[in-house]
Amino acid sequence: MESSCQRKALAIADKIESHLGLKVKLSEPMHKHTSFRVGGPADFYLEPTTVQELSAVIDLLLEAGVSFKIIGNGTNLLVSDNGYRGAIIRLGPRYASWLREGNQLWAEAGISLPVLAKRAANEGLSGLEFLSGIPGTVGGALYMNAGAWGSTIGAKVVAAWVLKGQEMVQISRTELDFAYRYSNLQKQTILAAQFQLQEATSAEIQELMAGYLRRRQESQPLGLPSAGSVFRNPPDLKAAKIIDELGLKGMVIGGAQVSPVHANFIVNLGYATASDIYRLILEVQSVVEQETGIKLKPEIEQIGFTSP
Ligand SMILES: Cc1cc2nc3c(=O)[nH]c(=O)nc-3n(C[C@H](O)[C@H](O)[C@H](O)COP(=O)(O)OP(=O)(O)OC[C@H]3O[C@@H](n4cnc5c(N)ncnc54)[C@H](O)[C@@H]3O)c2cc1C
Repeated sequence: MESSCQRKALAIADKIESHLGLKVKLSEPMHKHTSFRVGGPADFYLEPTTVQELSAVIDLLLEAGVSFKIIGNGTNLLVSDNGYRGAIIRLGPRYASWLREGNQLWAEAGISLPVLAKRAANEGLSGLEFLSGIPGTVGGALYMNAGAWGSTIGAKVVAAWVLKGQEMVQISRTELDFAYRYSNLQKQTILAAQFQLQEATSAEIQELMAGYLRRRQESQPLGLPSAGSVFRNPPDLKAAKIIDELGLKGMVIGGAQVSPVHANFIVNLGYATASDIYRLILEVQSVVEQETGIKLKPEIEQIGFTSP
């Protein structure tokens, strides 16, 4: 940031801190907040803990003309090496309450999916086992209707809550629309969701969860930083199979590699830049299109890059 920008940023941070008592980090490296472990600085970084704090922060940012982005665990994000011009607002473990109501669980957006799956298991409630190996939050999962092993989070949701002005507004099931890696909540700030579950024994639930986790360990490169599947599956096809059949497993650019374990994962070998990963995505897309005519669309969200 230039020095006049720096002064302006300091003044905005000061205002937020003095009005709300909320810590604002300036030039916060995004590699600390993304599962790829890459990404340059966000001008501002905040972790509000209540709806009131969140809405007040957003008001102050809008008043100052600062753009913002809500994130969860950063497990579906590729942030550029130049970072993000604006404020990253994280709804994570500091915004992660949950509550049982009969056979339903209500959960705030920041709760991690594996934590929520474990809570449900402890309560003897079945239905969220498939989330146990997805490292995102409820907010991030609702945003893109995360799913695995034939189940999707959208199918379990009976209501969601979003921020409208300073209010927490409920959206009922009939107003919600979920499809493959899509939800109509994508323009909203997601605050919470309620899930419909069924009673089951703890042993049954644990067995399902263990099975899902084992299948993941066998088929995914969990020891290296990644953001899960990079490309969406084209209709009736599997992106991983297409990439694998073209012999692209193991392809490397800088410190980024098409995983030899799972062709739809790109992993950070430990020294990747966001640019390495971005260029590898483009290269895979280009080879696949040349060889098959199929244009793979990224599933992961790319932030701060100048061209798509
Ligand atoms: C090892 C690994 C395995 C994975 N396996 C799967 C899988 O099986 N299935 C699957 O679907 N995904 C998978 N993923 C991808 C990822 O975990 C999911 O997409 C997850 O739902 C993202 O949640 P997040 O909190 O990390 O979101 P982030 O990456 O932080 O954000 C993703 C998007 O959601 C938005 N967002 C986040 N929170 C909110 C909110 N509260 N309000 C509004 N918008 C919000 C962000 O702005 C961004 O646009 C995997 C990732 C990894 C690293």
